[in-house]
This record gives sequence, C-alpha cells and structure tokens, in this order.
Amino acid sequence: MGRRSRKKYKVFRPVQRTLPKVFQCPACGSMTVIIDVETYVNELGEEKKRALIKCMNPKCGLRAELAELPSIFEAVDAYSRFLELYGTDKMKTWFEKGEFIE
Ligand SMILES: [Zn+2]
Repeated sequence: MGRRSRKKYKVFRPVQRTLPKVFQCPACGSMTVIIDVETYVNELGEEKKRALIKCMNPKCGLRAELAELPSIFEAVDAYSRFLELYGTDKMKTWFEKGEFIE
C-alpha cells in the first residue's frame, strides 16, 4: 500500500468529436455547411430524422431542410441526401441573408 506504481502521465484520450462536422456548400463551395439532425416521431408513430442544413458563410446563407429521413441517418447521410436533392424541388431550400451584417 502506498506505493505509487502509477506514473503521472497525460492520457491522450481519443478526442470525442463533439464539434459539428463541416461540409462543403454546393452553393458557394466553402467548407462552411453544418447540419443539425434531430429525431422526431411522425404521425404514424415512426421514428424519423429531420436535418437542418446551414451554410455559415455570411455571403451565402444557404439553408435547407430535410424531413422524413430514416432514423439511422447521421449528419453525413443527410448531407449526401442534401447533395442529391440540391437544385431540385424535392427539398426546401432558401437563403438566409443579413444575419451577419457588420
Ligand atoms: Zn454556402
């Protein structure tokens, strides 16, 4: 007892990526897109996901919303769906400008 066998050293834990991943924006081409994914239950009682896509480039301000995504979808899956639907009328897309006016 009392014998310190454990050296004091820094444990490098693998960094838990809590930061939102950023994706490339199809409108302005910058790596400024973040995606919020949330789970909800639709009228049929099925668990679905909804994604809000936001471009953080103030000159762009692209926003898109995807609903009725399978509950296994993660942000990256939502992103590929978003790219597929970008430019079609199957997805709600708009531009939010003026948020970052100096
Ligand atoms: Zn953009």
